[in-house]
Amino acid sequence: YFITFEGGEGAGKTSILHSIASKLKEKGYDIVTTREPGGIRISEQIRNIILNPLHTEMDARTEALLYAAARRQHLVEKVFPALEQGKIVLCDRFIDSSLAYQGYARELGIDEVFTINQFAIQNSMPDLTLFFDIKPEKGLARIAANEDRERNRLDLEKLNFHEKVYEAYQILVQRFPERIQVINADQTLKQVEEDSLSLITQFLNT
Ligand code: C5P
Ligand code: MG
Repeated sequence: YFITFEGGEGAGKTSILHSIASKLKEKGYDIVTTREPGGIRISEQIRNIILNPLHTEMDARTEALLYAAARRQHLVEKVFPALEQGKIVLCDRFIDSSLAYQGYARELGIDEVFTINQFAIQNSMPDLTLFFDIKPEKGLARIAANEDRERNRLDLEKLNFHEKVYEAYQILVQRFPERIQVINADQTLKQVEEDSLSLITQFLNT
């Protein structure tokens, strides 16, 4: 199964993904963890191009195409082979991030960004997506309370942008009600972890 973790900044996706992965491994599941953009060499390099703060001239469509290219290579090299071996892949961000960030917040259009991504993913949508729901100001405050590396990242985009990203995820939840499940991320990390784990184990057992 292909399970993706989605949401805005500071929602706790990355930490929860790793803690859940080890819990599932303890239960005997064969788990692969990965992230987007990145996960493999070529896609990590594309990530560095996209996220380089010096690349202020980057056009939004170029950005969307680079995310799609990174996604394609990551699927081919890492996700597809793992799924073929019957493994469970937990991926930090996937297509919904593109729909939310480039499609909605950068205003390229959710449908247009979906179209270029269909070329990249060839119908390989996730089986399950967890949306970590937290208001952007709260998520951003969590990051600000963390390290400098994270703090620098905040300057890249303003609160208004993150509010649009949040709005976009609400739209996606409406649009893909079967696939996307909402996790209340505005709780202690332990509680969020518990909710996520029970949702995933329930999914795996039905
Ligand atoms: O997953 P992580 O939070 O590390 O994402 C890195 C950055 O990439 C985030 O700051 C996010 O704003 C950005 N991003 C994006 N569009 C995507 C995926 C990620 O702008 N499709
Ligand atoms: Mg993260």
